[in-house]
Amino acid sequence: MKKLTMAVCMAAAFPVWAAGPSEADLKQDAKTTGDVTTYGMGYDLKRHSPLKQINKSTVKNLVPVWNLSLANNQPQSQQPLMIDGVLYIATHDSTAAVDALTGRQLWKHTLEYAADLPAVICCGSHNRGVAAFEGKLFRGTLDAHVIALDMKTGKQLWRSKAQEYKDGYSITVAPLVANGLVLTGISGGEYGTRGFIDAWDPQTGKQVWRRYNIPAPGEKGSEGWPGESWKRGGAPTWLTGSYDPELDLVYWGVGNGGPWNPTTRTGDNLYVGSVIAIRPKTGEIVWHYQFSPNDPFDYDGTNELIQTELKIGGKMRKVIIQANRNGYFYVIDRTNGELLAANPFIDKINWANGIDMKTGRPIDSDLTKTIKTTPVMDKAIEIWPSALGGKNWSPMAYDSKLGLAFANTLNMGFPYKNVKQEYTRNVFYIGMEFVGFAYPQDGKRGFLKAIDPLTGKSKWQVALEIPNFAGVLSTDGGLVFTGAMTGEFQAYDSSTGKKLWQFQTGSGIVSMPITWERNGKQYVTVTSGIGGVYALY
Ligand code: CA
Ligand code: CA
Repeated sequence: MKKLTMAVCMAAAFPVWAAGPSEADLKQDAKTTGDVTTYGMGYDLKRHSPLKQINKSTVKNLVPVWNLSLANNQPQSQQPLMIDGVLYIATHDSTAAVDALTGRQLWKHTLEYAADLPAVICCGSHNRGVAAFEGKLFRGTLDAHVIALDMKTGKQLWRSKAQEYKDGYSITVAPLVANGLVLTGISGGEYGTRGFIDAWDPQTGKQVWRRYNIPAPGEKGSEGWPGESWKRGGAPTWLTGSYDPELDLVYWGVGNGGPWNPTTRTGDNLYVGSVIAIRPKTGEIVWHYQFSPNDPFDYDGTNELIQTELKIGGKMRKVIIQANRNGYFYVIDRTNGELLAANPFIDKINWANGIDMKTGRPIDSDLTKTIKTTPVMDKAIEIWPSALGGKNWSPMAYDSKLGLAFANTLNMGFPYKNVKQEYTRNVFYIGMEFVGFAYPQDGKRGFLKAIDPLTGKSKWQVALEIPNFAGVLSTDGGLVFTGAMTGEFQAYDSSTGKKLWQFQTGSGIVSMPITWERNGKQYVTVTSGIGGVYALY
Protein backbone atom coordinates (compact mmCIF):
# COMPACT_ATOMS: atom_id res chain seq x y z
CA MET A 1 0.00 0.00 0.00
CA LYS A 2 2.75 2.39 0.98
CA LYS A 3 4.74 1.58 -2.12
CA LEU A 4 1.82 2.44 -4.42
CA THR A 5 1.29 5.82 -2.78
CA MET A 6 4.95 6.62 -3.23
CA ALA A 7 4.90 5.76 -6.90
CA VAL A 8 1.89 7.95 -7.62
CA CYS A 9 3.35 10.78 -5.62
CA MET A 10 6.67 10.66 -7.45
CA ALA A 11 5.08 10.63 -10.85
CA ALA A 12 3.06 13.70 -9.97
CA ALA A 13 5.81 15.68 -8.28
CA PHE A 14 8.69 14.86 -10.60
CA PRO A 15 7.60 14.36 -14.20
CA VAL A 16 11.06 13.08 -15.05
CA TRP A 17 9.75 10.73 -17.74
CA ALA A 18 8.69 13.72 -19.83
CA ALA A 19 12.00 15.56 -19.44
CA GLY A 20 12.93 17.00 -22.76
CA PRO A 21 14.12 17.35 -25.33
CA SER A 22 13.05 13.98 -26.72
CA GLU A 23 14.41 12.40 -29.87
CA ALA A 24 11.34 13.81 -31.69
CA ASP A 25 12.11 17.31 -30.34
CA LEU A 26 15.63 17.09 -31.73
CA LYS A 27 14.42 15.87 -35.13
CA GLN A 28 11.87 18.68 -35.43
CA ASP A 29 14.04 21.47 -34.13
CA ALA A 30 14.29 23.42 -37.39
CA LYS A 31 10.46 23.65 -37.57
CA THR A 32 9.64 24.31 -33.91
CA THR A 33 10.14 28.02 -33.38
CA GLY A 34 9.55 27.97 -29.60
CA ASP A 35 12.86 26.33 -28.88
CA VAL A 36 16.40 25.69 -30.12
CA THR A 37 17.24 22.13 -29.11
CA THR A 38 20.23 21.49 -31.40
CA TYR A 39 23.51 23.00 -32.49
CA GLY A 40 22.82 24.36 -35.97
CA MET A 41 19.12 25.06 -35.21
CA GLY A 42 18.23 21.69 -36.72
CA TYR A 43 19.98 18.40 -37.42
CA ASP A 44 20.50 19.74 -40.98
CA LEU A 45 22.61 22.64 -39.58
CA LYS A 46 20.82 25.20 -41.77
CA ARG A 47 20.72 27.88 -39.06
CA HIS A 48 17.58 29.15 -40.72
CA SER A 49 14.39 30.04 -38.86
CA PRO A 50 10.82 30.28 -40.26
CA LEU A 51 10.19 33.17 -37.85
CA LYS A 52 9.35 36.51 -39.50
CA GLN A 53 8.02 38.87 -36.82
CA ILE A 54 11.45 40.50 -36.97
CA ASN A 55 11.66 41.24 -40.68
CA LYS A 56 12.95 43.74 -43.22
CA SER A 57 10.47 46.41 -42.07
CA THR A 58 10.46 45.78 -38.30
CA VAL A 59 14.14 45.06 -37.66
CA LYS A 60 14.82 48.77 -37.19
CA ASN A 61 12.86 48.52 -33.93
CA LEU A 62 15.02 45.70 -32.53
CA VAL A 63 16.37 46.65 -29.08
CA PRO A 64 18.10 44.75 -26.26
CA VAL A 65 15.83 43.17 -23.65
CA TRP A 66 18.59 42.17 -21.21
CA ASN A 67 22.24 41.32 -21.07
CA LEU A 68 24.15 39.10 -18.72
CA SER A 69 27.88 38.86 -18.07
CA LEU A 70 29.19 35.34 -18.54
CA ALA A 71 32.11 36.26 -16.24
CA ASN A 72 34.57 34.81 -18.71
CA ASN A 73 37.38 36.67 -20.46
CA GLN A 74 37.99 34.04 -23.17
CA PRO A 75 36.52 34.00 -26.70
CA GLN A 76 32.76 33.49 -26.72
CA SER A 77 32.30 31.08 -29.65
CA GLN A 78 29.29 29.21 -28.38
CA GLN A 79 25.80 28.65 -29.64
CA PRO A 80 23.25 28.68 -26.81
CA LEU A 81 20.28 26.31 -26.71
CA MET A 82 16.80 27.52 -25.66
CA ILE A 83 14.47 24.91 -24.17
CA ASP A 84 11.26 25.54 -22.20
CA GLY A 85 12.14 29.19 -21.70
CA VAL A 86 15.68 28.50 -20.49
CA LEU A 87 18.90 29.35 -22.32
CA TYR A 88 21.84 27.00 -21.81
CA ILE A 89 25.16 28.74 -22.38
CA ALA A 90 28.63 27.20 -22.17
CA THR A 91 31.98 28.94 -21.79
CA HIS A 92 35.35 27.22 -21.58
CA ASP A 93 34.97 26.76 -17.83
CA SER A 94 31.26 27.04 -17.08
CA THR A 95 27.76 26.07 -18.11
CA ALA A 96 24.85 28.29 -17.17
CA ALA A 97 21.05 28.09 -17.30
CA VAL A 98 19.48 31.50 -17.84
CA ASP A 99 15.84 32.58 -17.89
CA ALA A 100 15.38 33.43 -21.57
CA LEU A 101 12.95 36.32 -20.97
CA THR A 102 14.66 38.05 -18.06
CA GLY A 103 18.33 37.08 -18.24
CA ARG A 104 18.23 35.83 -14.65
CA GLN A 105 20.78 33.10 -14.03
CA LEU A 106 19.08 29.95 -12.72
CA TRP A 107 22.20 27.88 -12.09
CA LYS A 108 25.84 27.76 -13.06
CA HIS A 109 28.17 24.80 -13.12
CA THR A 110 31.88 25.59 -13.15
CA LEU A 111 34.85 23.51 -14.27
CA GLU A 112 38.24 23.50 -12.67
CA TYR A 113 41.27 22.88 -14.82
CA ALA A 114 44.70 21.75 -13.70
CA ALA A 115 47.37 24.42 -13.53
CA ASP A 116 49.35 22.76 -16.34
CA LEU A 117 46.52 23.11 -18.86
CA PRO A 118 47.91 25.43 -21.56
CA ALA A 119 46.63 28.98 -21.18
CA VAL A 120 45.86 29.21 -24.90
CA ILE A 121 44.92 25.98 -26.61
CA CYS A 122 44.85 26.48 -30.37
CA CYS A 123 42.97 28.60 -31.15
CA GLY A 124 41.63 30.15 -28.01
CA SER A 125 40.26 28.60 -24.79
CA HIS A 126 36.62 28.34 -25.69
CA ASN A 127 33.62 26.05 -26.10
CA ARG A 128 31.15 25.82 -28.96
CA GLY A 129 28.09 24.69 -27.04
CA VAL A 130 26.10 22.00 -25.32
CA ALA A 131 23.78 19.23 -26.50
CA ALA A 132 20.54 18.39 -24.72
CA PHE A 133 18.62 15.14 -24.46
CA GLU A 134 15.98 13.79 -22.04
CA GLY A 135 16.73 16.10 -19.14
CA LYS A 136 20.51 16.12 -19.53
CA LEU A 137 23.06 18.51 -21.00
CA PHE A 138 26.29 17.24 -22.51
CA ARG A 139 29.47 19.20 -23.14
CA GLY A 140 33.17 18.79 -23.68
CA THR A 141 36.01 20.20 -21.60
CA LEU A 142 39.40 21.63 -22.51
CA ASP A 143 41.05 18.75 -20.65
CA ALA A 144 39.37 16.33 -23.09
CA HIS A 145 36.52 15.02 -20.97
CA VAL A 146 32.81 14.81 -21.72
CA ILE A 147 30.38 15.61 -18.91
CA ALA A 148 26.63 15.37 -18.38
CA LEU A 149 24.67 17.85 -16.27
CA ASP A 150 21.12 17.76 -14.95
CA MET A 151 19.22 20.40 -16.94
CA LYS A 152 17.09 21.40 -13.94
CA THR A 153 19.83 21.80 -11.34
CA GLY A 154 23.17 21.94 -13.14
CA LYS A 155 24.38 19.01 -11.04
CA GLN A 156 27.06 16.92 -12.72
CA LEU A 157 25.77 13.42 -13.48
CA TRP A 158 28.82 11.83 -15.07
CA ARG A 159 32.26 12.71 -16.37
CA SER A 160 34.17 10.55 -18.84
CA LYS A 161 37.70 10.93 -20.12
CA ALA A 162 38.08 10.94 -23.89
CA GLN A 163 41.85 11.43 -24.11
CA GLU A 164 44.91 12.73 -22.29
CA TYR A 165 45.09 16.52 -22.45
CA LYS A 166 48.82 16.34 -21.75
CA ASP A 167 49.17 14.77 -25.20
CA GLY A 168 47.60 17.84 -26.85
CA TYR A 169 43.97 16.70 -26.98
CA SER A 170 41.05 18.98 -26.05
CA ILE A 171 37.32 19.22 -26.67
CA THR A 172 35.65 22.42 -27.86
CA VAL A 173 33.02 20.87 -30.15
CA ALA A 174 29.32 20.91 -29.25
CA PRO A 175 28.25 17.24 -28.90
CA LEU A 176 25.65 15.73 -31.24
CA VAL A 177 22.90 13.48 -29.92
CA ALA A 178 22.02 11.06 -32.74
CA ASN A 179 20.00 7.86 -32.53
CA GLY A 180 20.16 7.88 -28.75
CA LEU A 181 23.93 8.33 -28.35
CA VAL A 182 26.09 11.36 -27.57
CA LEU A 183 28.73 11.88 -30.25
CA THR A 184 31.80 14.03 -29.64
CA GLY A 185 34.81 15.00 -31.73
CA ILE A 186 38.29 16.06 -30.68
CA SER A 187 40.62 19.04 -31.15
CA GLY A 188 44.41 19.07 -31.29
CA GLY A 189 45.31 18.49 -34.93
CA GLU A 190 48.36 20.72 -34.57
CA TYR A 191 49.81 18.80 -31.61
CA GLY A 192 50.77 15.45 -33.13
CA THR A 193 47.49 13.79 -32.20
CA ARG A 194 45.34 11.07 -33.83
CA GLY A 195 41.77 12.23 -34.39
CA PHE A 196 38.60 10.28 -33.67
CA ILE A 197 34.87 10.46 -32.98
CA ASP A 198 33.44 8.98 -29.77
CA ALA A 199 29.94 7.82 -28.86
CA TRP A 200 28.77 7.86 -25.24
CA ASP A 201 25.81 6.34 -23.44
CA PRO A 202 23.75 9.38 -22.33
CA GLN A 203 22.63 7.62 -19.15
CA THR A 204 25.95 6.37 -17.84
CA GLY A 205 28.72 8.13 -19.75
CA LYS A 206 30.13 4.77 -20.82
CA GLN A 207 31.97 4.91 -24.15
CA VAL A 208 29.94 2.91 -26.69
CA TRP A 209 32.39 3.14 -29.60
CA ARG A 210 35.38 5.06 -30.89
CA ARG A 211 36.09 5.66 -34.58
CA TYR A 212 39.68 6.71 -35.30
CA ASN A 213 40.02 8.82 -38.43
CA ILE A 214 43.48 7.48 -39.21
CA PRO A 215 43.75 3.77 -39.97
CA ALA A 216 46.19 1.75 -37.85
CA PRO A 217 48.74 -0.41 -39.69
CA GLY A 218 46.97 -3.13 -41.65
CA GLU A 219 43.62 -1.30 -41.76
CA LYS A 220 42.14 0.02 -45.00
CA GLY A 221 43.99 3.17 -46.10
CA SER A 222 46.97 2.60 -43.78
CA GLU A 223 49.42 2.45 -46.70
CA GLY A 224 49.49 6.28 -46.79
CA TRP A 225 50.87 6.43 -43.26
CA PRO A 226 54.52 5.31 -43.12
CA GLY A 227 56.20 4.32 -39.85
CA GLU A 228 54.68 5.91 -36.78
CA SER A 229 53.11 8.79 -38.70
CA TRP A 230 49.57 7.41 -38.19
CA LYS A 231 49.87 8.07 -34.46
CA ARG A 232 50.43 11.79 -35.03
CA GLY A 233 48.62 12.45 -38.30
CA GLY A 234 46.01 14.91 -37.06
CA ALA A 235 42.55 14.34 -38.62
CA PRO A 236 40.70 16.12 -35.78
CA THR A 237 36.92 16.47 -35.62
CA TRP A 238 36.35 19.76 -33.88
CA LEU A 239 33.07 20.89 -35.44
CA THR A 240 29.69 19.24 -34.97
CA GLY A 241 28.42 16.94 -37.73
CA SER A 242 24.94 16.98 -39.20
CA TYR A 243 22.50 14.08 -38.89
CA ASP A 244 19.93 12.68 -41.32
CA PRO A 245 17.58 10.56 -39.17
CA GLU A 246 15.86 9.05 -42.26
CA LEU A 247 19.10 7.74 -43.72
CA ASP A 248 20.47 7.27 -40.18
CA LEU A 249 23.75 8.82 -41.28
CA VAL A 250 25.90 11.37 -39.47
CA TYR A 251 28.10 13.59 -41.68
CA TRP A 252 31.23 14.69 -39.87
CA GLY A 253 34.11 16.72 -41.27
CA VAL A 254 37.66 15.54 -40.60
CA GLY A 255 40.46 18.07 -40.18
CA ASN A 256 44.04 18.71 -41.27
CA GLY A 257 46.92 16.33 -41.72
CA GLY A 258 49.63 16.45 -39.11
CA PRO A 259 52.24 17.75 -39.25
CA TRP A 260 51.26 20.18 -42.01
CA ASN A 261 54.53 19.31 -43.79
CA PRO A 262 53.05 16.65 -46.10
CA THR A 263 56.32 14.92 -46.94
CA THR A 264 56.23 13.20 -43.54
CA ARG A 265 53.21 11.32 -44.85
CA THR A 266 52.63 9.78 -48.26
CA GLY A 267 49.63 9.30 -50.50
CA ASP A 268 46.18 10.63 -49.68
CA ASN A 269 46.29 10.14 -45.89
CA LEU A 270 42.77 8.96 -45.20
CA TYR A 271 40.66 10.45 -43.65
CA VAL A 272 42.45 13.79 -43.50
CA GLY A 273 40.45 16.65 -45.05
CA SER A 274 37.38 14.46 -45.64
CA VAL A 275 33.72 14.07 -44.84
CA ILE A 276 32.86 10.70 -43.38
CA ALA A 277 29.27 9.39 -43.33
CA ILE A 278 28.88 7.20 -40.27
CA ARG A 279 26.24 5.09 -38.56
CA PRO A 280 25.62 6.72 -35.20
CA LYS A 281 24.96 3.40 -33.46
CA THR A 282 28.25 1.78 -34.48
CA GLY A 283 30.63 4.37 -35.93
CA GLU A 284 30.85 2.37 -39.15
CA ILE A 285 31.98 4.52 -42.11
CA VAL A 286 29.39 4.03 -44.83
CA TRP A 287 31.10 6.35 -47.34
CA HIS A 288 33.66 9.10 -47.41
CA TYR A 289 34.75 11.87 -49.71
CA GLN A 290 38.18 13.48 -49.42
CA PHE A 291 38.32 17.22 -50.17
CA SER A 292 42.05 17.74 -49.64
CA PRO A 293 44.16 14.57 -50.11
CA ASN A 294 47.57 14.80 -48.37
CA ASP A 295 46.53 18.28 -47.10
CA PRO A 296 49.64 20.45 -46.43
CA PHE A 297 47.74 23.70 -45.81
CA ASP A 298 45.63 23.08 -42.71
CA TYR A 299 42.52 23.01 -44.92
CA ASP A 300 40.59 21.19 -42.18
CA GLY A 301 37.57 19.55 -43.79
CA THR A 302 35.70 20.23 -40.57
CA ASN A 303 33.40 23.02 -41.75
CA GLU A 304 29.66 22.49 -41.32
CA LEU A 305 27.96 20.04 -43.69
CA ILE A 306 24.50 21.49 -44.30
CA GLN A 307 21.78 19.18 -45.56
CA THR A 308 19.31 20.30 -48.19
CA GLU A 309 17.60 19.11 -51.36
CA LEU A 310 18.71 20.52 -54.73
CA LYS A 311 17.42 20.01 -58.25
CA ILE A 312 20.34 18.84 -60.35
CA GLY A 313 19.92 17.67 -63.94
CA GLY A 314 16.12 17.72 -63.49
CA LYS A 315 16.29 15.43 -60.46
CA MET A 316 15.90 16.29 -56.77
CA ARG A 317 18.96 15.13 -54.88
CA LYS A 318 19.51 14.81 -51.15
CA VAL A 319 22.77 16.67 -50.66
CA ILE A 320 25.20 18.05 -48.15
CA ILE A 321 26.85 21.37 -48.98
CA GLN A 322 30.08 22.74 -47.58
CA ALA A 323 32.16 25.89 -48.06
CA ASN A 324 35.50 24.19 -47.52
CA ARG A 325 38.56 25.92 -46.09
CA ASN A 326 40.32 25.02 -49.38
CA GLY A 327 38.21 27.62 -51.22
CA TYR A 328 35.81 25.31 -53.06
CA PHE A 329 32.08 25.04 -52.44
CA TYR A 330 31.07 21.37 -52.51
CA VAL A 331 27.73 19.72 -53.24
CA ILE A 332 27.72 16.00 -52.43
CA ASP A 333 24.95 13.38 -52.68
CA ARG A 334 24.47 12.47 -49.03
CA THR A 335 23.08 9.01 -49.79
CA ASN A 336 26.29 7.78 -51.42
CA GLY A 337 29.04 10.43 -51.37
CA GLU A 338 28.89 11.24 -55.11
CA LEU A 339 30.44 14.63 -55.90
CA LEU A 340 27.88 16.81 -57.72
CA ALA A 341 29.55 20.24 -57.77
CA ALA A 342 32.80 21.85 -56.58
CA ASN A 343 33.37 25.50 -57.51
CA PRO A 344 35.46 28.32 -56.06
CA PHE A 345 33.53 30.65 -53.74
CA ILE A 346 36.48 33.03 -53.30
CA ASP A 347 38.43 35.03 -55.88
CA LYS A 348 41.94 33.76 -55.36
CA ILE A 349 42.95 30.10 -55.16
CA ASN A 350 46.41 29.01 -56.24
CA TRP A 351 46.94 25.67 -54.47
CA ALA A 352 44.75 23.90 -57.06
CA ASN A 353 43.70 24.50 -60.65
CA GLY A 354 40.21 23.13 -60.05
CA ILE A 355 38.46 19.92 -59.02
CA ASP A 356 38.36 17.08 -61.55
CA MET A 357 34.68 16.14 -61.58
CA LYS A 358 35.44 12.68 -63.04
CA THR A 359 37.76 11.60 -60.24
CA GLY A 360 36.55 14.03 -57.57
CA ARG A 361 40.17 14.95 -56.91
CA PRO A 362 41.72 18.41 -56.79
CA ILE A 363 44.15 19.27 -59.60
CA ASP A 364 47.25 20.29 -57.65
CA SER A 365 48.98 23.42 -58.94
CA ASP A 366 52.74 23.35 -59.58
CA LEU A 367 53.21 25.25 -56.31
CA THR A 368 51.44 22.50 -54.38
CA LYS A 369 53.36 19.80 -56.26
CA THR A 370 56.61 21.43 -55.13
CA ILE A 371 55.41 21.68 -51.53
CA LYS A 372 54.29 18.03 -51.51
CA THR A 373 57.70 16.82 -52.68
CA THR A 374 60.17 19.12 -50.89
CA PRO A 375 60.69 18.10 -47.23
CA VAL A 376 62.82 21.18 -46.46
CA MET A 377 62.27 24.30 -48.55
CA ASP A 378 64.79 27.13 -49.13
CA LYS A 379 62.18 29.80 -49.43
CA ALA A 380 58.48 30.21 -48.84
CA ILE A 381 55.80 29.88 -51.51
CA GLU A 382 52.74 32.11 -51.20
CA ILE A 383 49.59 29.98 -51.08
CA TRP A 384 45.98 31.18 -51.38
CA PRO A 385 43.79 30.75 -49.43
CA SER A 386 45.75 30.81 -46.17
CA ALA A 387 45.64 28.23 -43.40
CA LEU A 388 42.53 30.07 -42.16
CA GLY A 389 40.85 28.98 -45.37
CA GLY A 390 38.49 30.64 -47.81
CA LYS A 391 36.09 30.40 -44.92
CA ASN A 392 37.03 29.62 -41.36
CA TRP A 393 34.88 27.53 -38.99
CA SER A 394 32.17 30.05 -38.11
CA PRO A 395 29.13 28.42 -39.66
CA MET A 396 27.09 29.75 -42.57
CA ALA A 397 23.28 29.69 -42.82
CA TYR A 398 21.26 28.27 -45.70
CA ASP A 399 17.88 29.60 -46.88
CA SER A 400 16.38 26.84 -49.04
CA LYS A 401 13.62 29.13 -50.39
CA LEU A 402 16.21 31.53 -51.78
CA GLY A 403 18.69 28.74 -52.52
CA LEU A 404 21.47 30.80 -50.95
CA ALA A 405 24.15 30.06 -48.39
CA PHE A 406 25.17 33.08 -46.30
CA ALA A 407 28.82 32.82 -45.32
CA ASN A 408 31.59 34.94 -43.87
CA THR A 409 34.51 34.33 -46.24
CA LEU A 410 38.20 35.24 -46.18
CA ASN A 411 40.49 36.75 -48.79
CA MET A 412 43.97 36.01 -47.45
CA GLY A 413 47.02 33.95 -48.40
CA PHE A 414 50.09 32.81 -46.48
CA PRO A 415 53.77 32.14 -47.09
CA TYR A 416 54.36 28.41 -46.84
CA LYS A 417 57.75 26.78 -46.14
CA ASN A 418 58.39 23.17 -45.11
CA VAL A 419 61.01 22.71 -42.37
CA LYS A 420 62.25 19.76 -40.38
CA GLN A 421 60.66 19.37 -36.94
CA GLU A 422 60.85 16.51 -34.43
CA TYR A 423 57.73 15.61 -32.46
CA THR A 424 57.65 16.86 -28.86
CA ARG A 425 54.75 15.99 -26.59
CA ASN A 426 52.09 18.71 -26.38
CA VAL A 427 54.06 21.15 -28.53
CA PHE A 428 52.73 22.75 -31.74
CA TYR A 429 53.87 20.23 -34.39
CA ILE A 430 53.39 21.47 -37.95
CA GLY A 431 56.78 21.03 -39.68
CA MET A 432 56.53 24.33 -41.50
CA GLU A 433 57.57 27.90 -40.77
CA PHE A 434 54.46 29.84 -39.88
CA VAL A 435 55.16 33.55 -40.20
CA GLY A 436 51.71 35.01 -40.77
CA PHE A 437 49.56 35.99 -43.71
CA ALA A 438 49.53 37.62 -47.12
CA TYR A 439 46.84 40.26 -47.57
CA PRO A 440 45.02 41.53 -50.65
CA GLN A 441 46.20 44.84 -52.08
CA ASP A 442 42.73 46.37 -51.99
CA GLY A 443 42.51 45.77 -48.22
CA LYS A 444 39.36 43.67 -48.46
CA ARG A 445 40.30 40.72 -46.24
CA GLY A 446 36.85 39.25 -46.01
CA PHE A 447 33.29 39.23 -47.31
CA LEU A 448 29.81 38.37 -46.20
CA LYS A 449 28.51 36.49 -49.25
CA ALA A 450 25.22 35.03 -50.46
CA ILE A 451 26.42 31.99 -52.38
CA ASP A 452 24.69 29.75 -54.92
CA PRO A 453 25.82 26.25 -53.88
CA LEU A 454 25.86 24.85 -57.42
CA THR A 455 28.08 27.55 -58.95
CA GLY A 456 29.93 28.97 -55.94
CA LYS A 457 29.05 32.42 -57.30
CA SER A 458 27.70 35.20 -55.10
CA LYS A 459 24.31 36.79 -55.60
CA TRP A 460 25.55 39.63 -53.40
CA GLN A 461 28.54 40.30 -51.23
CA VAL A 462 29.59 42.81 -48.62
CA ALA A 463 33.34 43.60 -48.61
CA LEU A 464 35.02 43.86 -45.21
CA GLU A 465 38.38 45.27 -44.22
CA ILE A 466 38.26 43.33 -40.96
CA PRO A 467 36.78 39.94 -41.80
CA ASN A 468 33.91 38.46 -39.79
CA PHE A 469 34.43 35.38 -37.64
CA ALA A 470 30.87 35.05 -36.40
CA GLY A 471 28.31 32.47 -37.42
CA VAL A 472 25.38 33.44 -39.61
CA LEU A 473 21.64 33.12 -38.97
CA SER A 474 18.98 33.57 -41.66
CA THR A 475 15.21 33.89 -41.27
CA ASP A 476 11.98 33.92 -43.26
CA GLY A 477 11.80 37.57 -42.24
CA GLY A 478 14.23 38.08 -45.11
CA LEU A 479 17.11 38.74 -42.75
CA VAL A 480 20.68 37.56 -42.32
CA PHE A 481 22.21 38.13 -38.87
CA THR A 482 25.92 38.06 -38.16
CA GLY A 483 28.50 39.87 -36.04
CA ALA A 484 31.69 41.86 -36.54
CA MET A 485 35.04 41.64 -34.75
CA THR A 486 34.46 45.28 -33.84
CA GLY A 487 31.38 44.36 -31.81
CA GLU A 488 28.45 45.23 -34.05
CA PHE A 489 25.64 42.69 -34.19
CA GLN A 490 24.10 43.22 -37.62
CA ALA A 491 21.11 42.36 -39.77
CA TYR A 492 21.23 42.36 -43.58
CA ASP A 493 18.53 42.03 -46.22
CA SER A 494 18.91 38.42 -47.40
CA SER A 495 17.91 39.29 -51.00
CA THR A 496 20.20 42.27 -51.49
CA GLY A 497 22.90 42.32 -48.79
CA LYS A 498 21.83 45.79 -47.68
CA LYS A 499 22.63 46.43 -44.03
CA LEU A 500 19.37 47.19 -42.24
CA TRP A 501 20.30 47.31 -38.57
CA GLN A 502 23.14 47.04 -36.11
CA PHE A 503 23.80 47.19 -32.41
CA GLN A 504 27.19 47.67 -30.74
CA THR A 505 27.60 44.88 -28.17
CA GLY A 506 30.82 46.19 -26.68
CA SER A 507 33.14 43.35 -27.74
CA GLY A 508 33.91 41.39 -30.89
CA ILE A 509 31.42 38.70 -31.91
CA VAL A 510 32.74 35.22 -32.75
CA SER A 511 29.67 33.21 -31.75
CA MET A 512 26.55 31.81 -33.37
CA PRO A 513 23.31 33.81 -33.04
CA ILE A 514 19.98 32.04 -32.59
CA THR A 515 16.35 33.13 -32.80
CA TRP A 516 13.26 31.78 -31.03
CA GLU A 517 9.81 32.86 -29.92
CA ARG A 518 8.12 32.88 -26.52
CA ASN A 519 4.60 34.07 -25.67
CA GLY A 520 4.07 35.15 -29.27
CA LYS A 521 7.18 37.31 -29.48
CA GLN A 522 10.36 36.70 -31.49
CA TYR A 523 13.77 37.13 -29.86
CA VAL A 524 17.37 36.95 -31.08
CA THR A 525 20.19 35.83 -28.79
CA VAL A 526 23.89 36.35 -29.39
CA THR A 527 26.95 36.13 -27.16
CA SER A 528 29.70 38.71 -27.48
CA GLY A 529 33.38 38.37 -26.52
CA ILE A 530 36.30 38.71 -28.91
CA GLY A 531 38.91 36.03 -29.56
CA GLY A 532 39.69 33.15 -31.87
CA VAL A 533 42.34 32.52 -34.46
CA TYR A 534 42.25 35.91 -36.25
CA ALA A 535 42.51 37.81 -32.96
CA LEU A 536 45.69 35.84 -32.14
CA TYR A 537 47.65 37.31 -35.07
CA1 CA B 1 13.11 24.35 -32.47
CA1 CA C 1 43.78 22.63 -38.11
